[in-house]
Amino acid sequence: MSVQNPVFIPGPTNMPESVRKACDMPTIDHRSPTFARLFKPAVAGVKRVLKMAEGEVIILPSTGTGGWEAAVSNTLSPGDTVLAARFGMFSHRWIDLCQRHGLNVEIIETPWGEGAPLAAIEAALKADTSGKIKAVLATHNETATGVRSDIGGIRRAMDAAGHGAMLFVDGVSSIGSMPFDFAGWGVDIAVAGSQKGFMLPAGLAILGVSPKAIAAMETAKLPRTFFDFKDMLSSYARGGYPYTPAVGLIAGLAHSIELLEDEGLEAVYARHHRLAEGVRRAVAAWGMTPFAASPALYSDTVTAVKVPEGCNGTDLVQLAATKYGMAFGVGLGEVAGKVFRIGHLGMLTDAMVLSGLAVAEMCMADLGWPVKLGSGVAAAQEHYRGTAPAMALAA
Ligand code: PLP
Repeated sequence: MSVQNPVFIPGPTNMPESVRKACDMPTIDHRSPTFARLFKPAVAGVKRVLKMAEGEVIILPSTGTGGWEAAVSNTLSPGDTVLAARFGMFSHRWIDLCQRHGLNVEIIETPWGEGAPLAAIEAALKADTSGKIKAVLATHNETATGVRSDIGGIRRAMDAAGHGAMLFVDGVSSIGSMPFDFAGWGVDIAVAGSQKGFMLPAGLAILGVSPKAIAAMETAKLPRTFFDFKDMLSSYARGGYPYTPAVGLIAGLAHSIELLEDEGLEAVYARHHRLAEGVRRAVAAWGMTPFAASPALYSDTVTAVKVPEGCNGTDLVQLAATKYGMAFGVGLGEVAGKVFRIGHLGMLTDAMVLSGLAVAEMCMADLGWPVKLGSGVAAAQEHYRGTAPAMALAA
């Protein structure tokens, strides 16, 4: 018999059965009106999830990394300057990608565990009197450290500096799980991937693009072909796609947005917050702390748990996989071994999270970590029973 536990990596996430079925469809002619009928609701749905008032949605056969590349290659030219804070593995990788594309990255080095430094961003923009900074890059949810940054705060810092740079936001591990406000925050490009909040397999980069970023395309000289927004938009206008689309994933995306909206986006965000809070109560009961430097920074999609002195987080992840068949996330880069990560996003319930916490505790006990079996689970149980939404109680 083949049985499977839910996963607790911070993406790819657990998939609802109906999303899997929506992806599993017969071949259609992607140059036929059938494709247009399937594509339009996905594009319209992404606009609603991102809260876009204007601009365009681009859906590429790629992943979040491709989304980063599409964002910069469509809007910037070799030698352009972008401003980015580095405070974790994913903010680092986006910076690295920009550098490999011949961009000049003004980096604000920030301790891992902190979020985007608003005052330093404002100061850097104020100092840029010649306007050489073309874009500010921001990682909304740093998946490596479990830190959520204040994107609205970055917009206010940009406005306070009176700077006209574009704002590009990596929402790969936040969009669809945590509130996102493209219009309200004045975002110029938002990047998401299919395999996190949208609960799909990996394979799509999903972008929201503002009119300002679309205008930047006209003068941007970085090379692009596969990711060219212009090709995409002119094909979309005719109800088509410039090459062969990932039809099954696009059908799945439309369905997954239907599920998110049936639950209600605010309810989805509240569920993620409540599940995350239960995990944080468990972490506290284990005598540990999240790696994020302060509660205001706690992510509702992933918790990086700081492990006790002398313990190695990677040991726990390996044991969970080999002995109990359960997946947690390892620490990446400079926090390798110092943390293990519990992903709590996508299709998840209280009961699923409790199973993950229970297995994490068994691993800790097996490894001789100073943790009492049941302590974290009990703390999360108390939180979940005390905060169960009315609908769940009635069901
Ligand atoms: N950005 C963030 C915040 C991520 O968590 C990830 C992947 O986990 C990426 C970007 C890269 O996305 P992908 O692995 O889909 O290329």
